[in-house]
Amino acid sequence: MLIVAIVLLSALVSLPFSAWRTFAIESRFGFNRTRLGTWLADLGKGVLVGAILGLPLAALVIALMRYAGGAWWLWAWGAWMGFQFLLLALYPTVIAPLFNKFTPMPDGPARTRIEALLARCGFASRGLYLMDGSKRSSHGNAYFTGFGRAKRIVMFDTLVERLAPEETEAVLAHELGHFKLRHIAKRIAWSAAMSLAFFALLAWLARADWFYGGLYVPPSPERPGVALVLFFLVLPVFTFLLAPVASWYSRRHEYEADAYAARQTSAGAMVSALVRLYEDNAATLTPDPLHSAFHDSHPPAALRVAHLEALSAGTAAAAAATA
Ligand SMILES: [Zn+2]
Repeated sequence: MLIVAIVLLSALVSLPFSAWRTFAIESRFGFNRTRLGTWLADLGKGVLVGAILGLPLAALVIALMRYAGGAWWLWAWGAWMGFQFLLLALYPTVIAPLFNKFTPMPDGPARTRIEALLARCGFASRGLYLMDGSKRSSHGNAYFTGFGRAKRIVMFDTLVERLAPEETEAVLAHELGHFKLRHIAKRIAWSAAMSLAFFALLAWLARADWFYGGLYVPPSPERPGVALVLFFLVLPVFTFLLAPVASWYSRRHEYEADAYAARQTSAGAMVSALVRLYEDNAATLTPDPLHSAFHDSHPPAALRVAHLEALSAGTAAAAAATA
């Protein structure tokens, strides 16, 4: 009950900001297409999915803390990793379809190029989906998700509408790059190591009186829910300092996926797709370098374009050398 109360309260605090972002800011710049009904339905479904997945997990962790003895944190970590894999399998096939319609890529001028590209990269074409992103906003996007049989590349309808066939192909090749270069597996390995460290830390703090005292709560090692709540309230203060490392790691993957796209299609098509995406999304071309280095999961447009141009210049030079 304590955990549910705190989760609901913090959700309540962030709700007005979310509404303001969608209905005020996004509308002011002409991007918003979300109707109030959709927004409210999203909210309801989000709470429901969160409760169905989150409550059993929280109950399991508390039970392990109470009954599994000194090594409870290893068991809890195992449960947490199992939950992560379950989520990765359920998200593309069960959760995302609650919010959007996913249809196979329709026939068109892009289709034949795309099939050839998918075959070349060894990706089953039934894993490629078009999503009705236009239901909520006119922002275009594409992403790669899931693993094993649940892996999918999802392209927003708003993206495919605006890009030329060779640009769509380049964006798809970028997403295929994330798949081929095993970026999701690497991210899982990274988060497995991090969460093991955090569970060990939680096990140590839950037994330390100063941890409770420092937060003005009476020490209560016999009530594991209290330690759990305090830990998750305090954790973001410290993980905030890890944000630049995660951002840097993600940006490295973006460069690798761009290079893959340049090899499989052409650097020029990837550059023109990027330029159009930035233009359509009204994304800034001149982010503050420090803010960008700290927060951005994707490198600034100018750096991505320069990287792609250097790659294509390198390829041209190599071709001239062989000739
Ligand atoms: Zn990417």
